[in-house]
Amino acid sequence: MDHVAPLANRSSRIGGFHKKSPQERLDLVAAFADLTPEAVAKLSDFGNLGADLADRMIENVVGTMNVPIGIATNVKVDGEDVLVPMATEESSVVAAVCNAARQNYEAGFTTSVSGNLMIAQVQAVEVRDPHAARIRILERREEIRALCDGCDPVLVRFGGGFRDLEVRVLDTLGGPMVITHLIVDTRDAMGANAVNTMAETLAPHIAAWSGGRVYLRILSNLADRRLARAHATWRVEEIGGEGVRDGIVSAYHFAEADPYRAATHNKGIMNGISAVVLATGNDTRAIEAGAHAYASRSGRYTSLTRYEVDADGHLSGSIELPLAVGLIGGATKIHPTAQACLKILGVTSAERLARIIAAVGLAQNFSALKALATTGIQKGHMALHAQNIAMMAGAVGEEIERVARILVERGSVRTDLAQSALEEIRRA
Ligand code: NAD
Repeated sequence: MDHVAPLANRSSRIGGFHKKSPQERLDLVAAFADLTPEAVAKLSDFGNLGADLADRMIENVVGTMNVPIGIATNVKVDGEDVLVPMATEESSVVAAVCNAARQNYEAGFTTSVSGNLMIAQVQAVEVRDPHAARIRILERREEIRALCDGCDPVLVRFGGGFRDLEVRVLDTLGGPMVITHLIVDTRDAMGANAVNTMAETLAPHIAAWSGGRVYLRILSNLADRRLARAHATWRVEEIGGEGVRDGIVSAYHFAEADPYRAATHNKGIMNGISAVVLATGNDTRAIEAGAHAYASRSGRYTSLTRYEVDADGHLSGSIELPLAVGLIGGATKIHPTAQACLKILGVTSAERLARIIAAVGLAQNFSALKALATTGIQKGHMALHAQNIAMMAGAVGEEIERVARILVERGSVRTDLAQSALEEIRRA
């Protein structure tokens, strides 16, 4: 496509934009933003997703965003070796998991889950007798089971469906609300659509039984009945001795006590977790929301991992968090890359996927804390970071590695220094 002249009237009110093809939309965007032909060509490369599939996944599609997938090696989960695909734009994330897993390869990670249960919430307001309404709803348990299971015979056929009912009277700024929780086994699906349909089906009944008005009917991302757990022991001699071990434990104590630190501590955990969630086509925001809500469950935001010194003096690390991931539904089934990543992982159940992801979160966190407690995070980070900076300075091909090496040798990774290093190389 030729360079499209900028639109005279740069209005974001573009009628019928959603009805256009991705290429037609891109032409409009190119004119609006004065994109170069190179930028347009990059955007219109849809990779293995293809324009048709991408256009069906979300609205107003003009392109796709490529993120590298790296494979974490050395990982053993419940006695079984696994190669873990991780989709992330951040350097050092994949290496961190490889390193942590190498240092406990013999024992590996042991994992478990609390179940596959999702929670859907139905909000009833303006209820005159909220406590009696709560009891009236609880009395309808079997009717509610039939209504929920009737929404999703496929899920029931796969062994899932309604499992339990909870009703709470919540004191709010707007007065008491009657909040009904539908607890549903969603098997190998993340289950958002599955439980949302149930909540919507139940809503008029809840309104009738409570005598109130129903507003919201949607899942909770605090999936605390779908917890995944992982545990690992790092032998003290494998990780550099008691000083390193104690530094890691102290880093955990810091995160446990201080939300400022815990936010960064948990961000590192999510570096690992979100990368596998994304690679498998699962919903990163759902997992992030659940993780951070779970980290705050005591009323104070704290660490998702724990570290202790065991009876033999080794480092014992553990993690527990909600992990509502699926193998069915959302993008997991339709994105070709997600399908390939699930195949690499060799998972045949959502539960196994969640267990591997929990192990990856713990591994990631171990490496981050070890680096922080010893050499600092920047040293390991720098080699790859230097390459990014070299590319930002304009290095191409072999120049990237050469500029990066110069930056690392000089101990200062900055774009201005990368530019001068690049000029030196080009002059030589
Ligand atoms: P889905 O509705 O696409 O698929 C799930 C359905 O697949 C089940 O209801 C069942 O009928 C069927 N199924 C077939 N085989 C199954 C098996 N072995 N186990 C379980 N079910 C099986 O997907 P979903 O998991 O209900 O929803 C996930 C999507 O919802 C994600 O894309 C997510 O982004 C999105 N979403 C998230 C939120 C949120 O997190 N707040 C809200 C709305 C939507």
